[in-house]
Amino acid sequence: MSAVVSLQTKKTFLCVLCVSAVKTSFESVTDKPFFMKIDIKGMDLEETRQWVGTIGLESYRAAQIRQWIFKGLAVSFQEMTNLSKAARHNLEQEAQLQVLEEAEVQVSRDGTRKHLFRLHDGSFIEAVLIPERDHFTLCISSQSGCSMGCRFCLTGKQGFKRNLTPSEIADQVIQVRRSMEDPDRLTNLVLMGMGEPLANYAAVIKAIRNIVDLEGMNFSNRKVTLSTCGLVPEILRFGNDVTVNLAVSLNAADNETRDFLMPINHAYPLETLMAACREFPLPHGRRITFEYILIKGVNDRDEDAIRLAKLLTGIKAKVNLIPLNPHQGLDMSPPTEERMVAFQEILIQHRFTVMIRKSKGRDISAACGQLAGKRAEG
Ligand code: SAH
Ligand code: SF4
Repeated sequence: MSAVVSLQTKKTFLCVLCVSAVKTSFESVTDKPFFMKIDIKGMDLEETRQWVGTIGLESYRAAQIRQWIFKGLAVSFQEMTNLSKAARHNLEQEAQLQVLEEAEVQVSRDGTRKHLFRLHDGSFIEAVLIPERDHFTLCISSQSGCSMGCRFCLTGKQGFKRNLTPSEIADQVIQVRRSMEDPDRLTNLVLMGMGEPLANYAAVIKAIRNIVDLEGMNFSNRKVTLSTCGLVPEILRFGNDVTVNLAVSLNAADNETRDFLMPINHAYPLETLMAACREFPLPHGRRITFEYILIKGVNDRDEDAIRLAKLLTGIKAKVNLIPLNPHQGLDMSPPTEERMVAFQEILIQHRFTVMIRKSKGRDISAACGQLAGKRAEG
């Protein structure tokens, strides 16, 4: 981690108009400004192959370079020792290896680690590393902020700042891996951090491809999950473009309650959303995960559970019940433990697989819906 930060802090952005003043430690040998160089981490294999040809390298070099970036976790071209000195020099002149700057890491009592990254334009995003029994899961962001305005979510309250680039999405994984003692133990990824991934469609798909690609990070498709609030046209496109898992944040089983909680429901009401889920091209043996935040007095009654069971009938589904996570200014609360178990029981009686998932890292505001992209206070 410290290596990453020290490389980043060598940047001196003097003046946006005076391009020659913009330098980073990666480009000490060239006059080409950083932002005019190709963002190599944001390209897929085919694009990289074609691009290396334009700078006079053989196309097989693309796979080598990607190995260094996505598996070797390289932060500079100089580390790519199976390339000649001239090739490395050439790459330094023409390409940038964007590295997220780590602003802060907070560690929870339960071992969850929240990484706060500062983007080059000064905005912040968060990624959360969650220890499980025999592996780690990383929750990554797809946008800085979010425009969807869900009533219960702190990210939504912050409003939308901007979409992340493909390399900013993928680099969260790379930089967190670099900070781990054993990076191979990070096997599971969820796009459930800040933002609505399907509202940043092209960048998210590109990043996912680099994450699951054999020549990229080589994560198993089964171990990567994208969560959406329910952007119907993109759900169907997504199912055809990649084969990672889909999670849908449902949070209500009737339109009135969902309209109240999630403004997106006005555009894509439950009938339309559930029709898309039925049409979703599920790979063999997989199920769609439906997330349902339990909120006291809003969506936690027996009749809500019965309605939810009806709504999901015929869909290969599993249900995650999440007690509402608190944050300042939220005028709603989670139900009691007994109420949650009673709700779960009804769904089990209807033969659904149902888990009650308590988010980890609540003491450092790293739980679902608590990500604000801010430094810890005090
Ligand atoms: N935008 C996507 C992914 C990011 S939100 C989506 O909405 O699915 C990730 C998850 O956090 C969603 O399931 C959302 O319902 C949940 N969430 C948001 N605020 C929450 C809160 N206060 N308590 C518990 N879960 C919350
Ligand atoms: Fe955005 Fe998801 Fe939060 Fe809704 S729950 S505001 S879609 S991040």
